[in-house]
Amino acid sequence: MSSVEPVVGVLALQGDVREHIAALGRCGLRARPVRRPAELSEVDGLVIPGGESTTISRLLVTFGLLDPVRERIASGMPAYGSCAGMILLAGEVLDGRPDQHQLGGLDVVVRRNAFGRQVDSFEDDLDFTGIEGPPVHAVFIRAPWVESAAPGVEVLATVPDVPEAGAAAGRIVAVRQGSVLATAFHPELTGDERVHRLFCEMITSTLVSGG
Ligand code: GLN
Repeated sequence: MSSVEPVVGVLALQGDVREHIAALGRCGLRARPVRRPAELSEVDGLVIPGGESTTISRLLVTFGLLDPVRERIASGMPAYGSCAGMILLAGEVLDGRPDQHQLGGLDVVVRRNAFGRQVDSFEDDLDFTGIEGPPVHAVFIRAPWVESAAPGVEVLATVPDVPEAGAAAGRIVAVRQGSVLATAFHPELTGDERVHRLFCEMITSTLVSGG
């Protein structure tokens, strides 16, 4: 691990790994794929990408990464999950597969494929606590939402509570708990790096405080 210039890993088992590496690179960070425990030990923070949470869960076991990633997160390594990554970081999943594993880190209950089976994608502009400037354009693809969050979890964004949002109105779609950040949507796909910058600031402040 570097104490000077942080190295950010992207869990590279399945999903939109390249898009996250590119977004982190545009923030000026050194980003690299993580497929093995030795690679995990070299990074200061980890992104868990969007993809398919059940597949990533299975591959975490196959690649011997499930316990090492769980342990790093439990010991304070900053982690950011988008979509499937949010599902993996959640303490509990509704509508998941009974055999899917959780990495933990977020005291939330998420509902998988929450926007409805017919609704493959949904887009909206969100106010995002901690992000300055115009609203964040959020792209949801077979996305989860946070059904409930424990008191220690900071809610950073919700879907606007308007009739056009249907069942998604008012739902929690971005959260932070300590050094763990998650969004139900995919900022890696829209060319807006502000969520990645927020995560990078979380990594930098962890390194500065020696956490
Ligand atoms: N529905 C997917 C899952 O359950 C998540 C979709 C996504 O990451 N775009 O993992």
